[in-house]
Amino acid sequence: MTSSMTTPERARSRKAKPSIIASWLFAGTLLVPQLATAQDKGTLNPQPLPPLAHPEDPATPAKELFGRKSQPAKLETRTIGFYSKGCLAGAMALPINGATWQVMRLSRNRNWGHPNLVKFLERLAAQAPKTGWRGLLVGDMSQPRGGPMFTGHASHQVGLDADIWLTPMPNRELTREEREDMSATMVVREDRLDVDPQVWTPAHVNVIKAAAKDPQVARIFVNAAIKKALCRDAGSDRHWLNKVQPWWGHDYHFHVRLNCPSDNPECTPQPARPSDEGCSGKELDYWFSDAVLHPKPSPVPSKPRPGPRMADLPAACRQVLLAP
Ligand SMILES: [Zn+2]
Repeated sequence: MTSSMTTPERARSRKAKPSIIASWLFAGTLLVPQLATAQDKGTLNPQPLPPLAHPEDPATPAKELFGRKSQPAKLETRTIGFYSKGCLAGAMALPINGATWQVMRLSRNRNWGHPNLVKFLERLAAQAPKTGWRGLLVGDMSQPRGGPMFTGHASHQVGLDADIWLTPMPNRELTREEREDMSATMVVREDRLDVDPQVWTPAHVNVIKAAAKDPQVARIFVNAAIKKALCRDAGSDRHWLNKVQPWWGHDYHFHVRLNCPSDNPECTPQPARPSDEGCSGKELDYWFSDAVLHPKPSPVPSKPRPGPRMADLPAACRQVLLAP
């Protein structure tokens, strides 16, 4: 079954504000939840953005600058900064087709990452069929030089984040058009309290588990109903659940975040989670609280945010932006 996210769902997710979760959860991340928009359709004929009149103006949002770079910076490979505030030099592209993966929404040009991320996706894709999951449909990774994006994500800025659809790869090569138009599968039940039993399968558990068990994976973000289902279905091998964290959105895809590369001192690591599985207690309960499931509509519509400027990013991101 496939369906698109409805407008009230988006609004609800956007308006949800964290209030009672322990401080580690938000340490070093943006406070306001951002939705990854796997459901936004793409186009077969993406138009280049018009040049900026004053790109050097310090008020220019960094997404306007990074969003206009269609090729990686020809510099030594390194991730610079934090997942939600940084950039990427020397990025590598994930090929759009592999034996057991296909890249979606090609018009976005977001199949770039640190080589560690590309290798991880190839490794997970190779393992997928052994878990009962035919192959990966890969959503957004990073832009060619990382950095903030126009749409969809607060993170994915340093080439270490990737979205993987909760729809297994079909048994054939998707057309360009299908890759822009197809919707991922909604696995969360309509009341948001659990997964949809018509859709959820043991293979969903297995592919997320395989990703979480990879030693390079720091964190996996999923909808809270998915975390709840994983906790229930994991059986006796449960240590990997520690890496799986509930987050807004993520009901059509799971988001994998890798550790900083070991030779990369400019990369700021993800703060550690508590050492438990996160399957009970305050952390999981929070996500099923009334405030999260049924947030009060905000009286004033929120203004669109420009996002970080170049001065807000690590200084080295300027070189990444200006490099050939
Ligand atoms: Zn994501």
